[in-house]
Amino acid sequence: MEEKPYFCPNCRSNRIKFSVLTSYSQDLLKDAQSGAVVEYNEPMMVAEQEPVIQCLVCRFVGNEMRFVKQAEREPRPGVTVEPAYR
Ligand SMILES: [Zn+2]
Repeated sequence: MEEKPYFCPNCRSNRIKFSVLTSYSQDLLKDAQSGAVVEYNEPMMVAEQEPVIQCLVCRFVGNEMRFVKQAEREPRPGVTVEPAYR
């Protein structure tokens, strides 16, 4: 993932709340007769070419680059706001 600001290109109101969607693969053994799963291996993360990001405000899903590009097009105004209440 890139250490760059994101800005949701869909709702264009969210710069802070995102989710990264990853894929896992998990090998398994099945019983050929009954179809029951006999054994699961540990899940392994599938390396993505580019992370897929979801906006947690509008639920839009897109490639990370779309969020990065949108943030570059519309940089955050130079006002610093505390991200949390003290
Ligand atoms: Zn959004």
